Amino acid sequence: MQLVILDRDGVINEDSDDYIKSPAEWIPIPGSLEAIARLYRADWHVIVVTNQSGIARRLFDLDIPVRIHEKMQRSVSEAGGLIDAVFFCPHSPNDNCNCRKPKPGLFLDLARRLRINLYGVPAIGDSLHDLQAARAAGASPILVKTGKGSSTLNNPEITVDVPIFSSLAGAVDALLVTDPKDNSSI
Ligand SMILES: [Mg+2]
Ligand SMILES: [Zn+2]
Repeated sequence: MQLVILDRDGVINEDSDDYIKSPAEWIPIPGSLEAIARLYRADWHVIVVTNQSGIARRLFDLDIPVRIHEKMQRSVSEAGGLIDAVFFCPHSPNDNCNCRKPKPGLFLDLARRLRINLYGVPAIGDSLHDLQAARAAGASPILVKTGKGSSTLNNPEITVDVPIFSSLAGAVDALLVTDPKDNSSI
């Protein structure tokens, strides 16, 4: 099974310092929905892992991410793709949970549920916390420059072995080039 793990805000949709608090505020980054569709056509599974501390901060209720993810699924589906599952952490940094990235809890949870090892599984994110969580779970972090990515790029903690792409579309193209099963370019 080919699997890729995606961060949400700043990777699939435009990020906001004011949090994404409603389906209307969820705006896809150009090319991201089509990129997920290319993955789907090439038989890749896509799982989203996202920190949503706006819940713990009482900026929005638990039904908001559910409605936002309905919109995200609908948008991806209209583009011809599919997101297999969304895992989110509702906690704040002060909660000291095991699931908020940079902790690997959500990654380990999905690995347990799917009974897979995350070794070599690409995990695409725009913040240092995404990369750290991926690495701690044994996955292979990839940085995109969308969202917080352009500032993350300058973080001295970014290690030289992390591949960097301009956007999800570019990262997916690179994944599919090395995937012999992909024939979407034919
Ligand atoms: Mg992000
Ligand atoms: Zn959590």
